[in-house]
Amino acid sequence: MEEREVTLKTELEQVQAQIFSLQSALDDKPDYGLGEGDPAITRRELDRVLLEQLKERAAGIEHALSAMAEDDYGVCEECGQPIHPDRLAILPETRTCIRCAKARESERVG
Ligand SMILES: [Zn+2]
Repeated sequence: MEEREVTLKTELEQVQAQIFSLQSALDDKPDYGLGEGDPAITRRELDRVLLEQLKERAAGIEHALSAMAEDDYGVCEECGQPIHPDRLAILPETRTCIRCAKARESERVG
């Protein structure tokens, strides 16, 4: 198994563990029906946002792992060019090269 694959699998396990504990924390806590601006509510909202982010991350890692299995890993899904190894080292689950990521980012901002 490739080292990168091991790293990704470990990361996926960690993210899934976080999702699991966050999910059960959200499920366990009853809705108190407290007023707006209550810290407990805010915390819940934050947890929900975090949960969504973690799920996205897990999906990204899963995608990267399946791409690896198909020998399709490290190719930008926008332009089809190879993604720079330095970028993959930092962001192993990324699906786009730095140029496309930047283009996407500026689209979002502008
Ligand atoms: Zn690209």
